[in-house]
Amino acid sequence: MNSKAEWKPSETAIVVVDMWNDHHCKSAAQRVVEMAPHMNKVLEAARRRGILIVHAPSNCMDYYKEATARKRAQAAPLAKTDIKFQWNYFNPDREGPLSEKLECAGCSCDLPEPCGPDKRVWTSQIVTLKIDDKDAISDNGQEVYNLLSEEDIKNVIVMGVHTNRCVLGRPFGIRQMVYLGKNVVLCRDLTDSYHRDPGAHFSGLNAIIGHVERYWCPTITSDSITGEGSFAFAAEQAESK
Ligand SMILES: [Zn+2]
Repeated sequence: MNSKAEWKPSETAIVVVDMWNDHHCKSAAQRVVEMAPHMNKVLEAARRRGILIVHAPSNCMDYYKEATARKRAQAAPLAKTDIKFQWNYFNPDREGPLSEKLECAGCSCDLPEPCGPDKRVWTSQIVTLKIDDKDAISDNGQEVYNLLSEEDIKNVIVMGVHTNRCVLGRPFGIRQMVYLGKNVVLCRDLTDSYHRDPGAHFSGLNAIIGHVERYWCPTITSDSITGEGSFAFAAEQAESK
């Protein structure tokens, strides 16, 4: 079902989730590299329109401790709410189950065996995404909420990775934003999933996006921000030919 809504840029933020510079899963890292140039163009267009961009590369705040955008997030005054900021797990009161293969992580490569050991290799956001002094950097749910409150932001566009995990679960992700009462959309051409289903990555990704649409929030494509084309992974385009 399609419907149309107009959001004022001054009441809208984009939260960029975990677009890290590296990942222990080689194909997951490669898809971030592939998606980042298009995402950067979208962020530039959004910034020009006055949309607040919040970069949220989890576990990388040390790297940004001197950045103006990081200091901006830390300086936003505390906004009180009764909603807890936490990792928001699967919520059986609200959402139907995701199949086992869409839940199971470890590696999203098209290989019979996982590509390598599961460990944290990321140190920053991918540098392809430019961070402006007008932007903010935070991986803390309360801080992100403080920023949104300071700017009277009602609408949140979530993009980044991974759809089935951090995009839904982080304390600045989709579930949290829904619990906080924000108007949330997922930018569905600028996300990727992390699940274990060799040979069927993109159908799994689409199933997860369908799950988000069904139980959590509507989706948009990035052309509604830029007025230009949306993004598709080369491998996905090849599959659909
Ligand atoms: Zn892998």
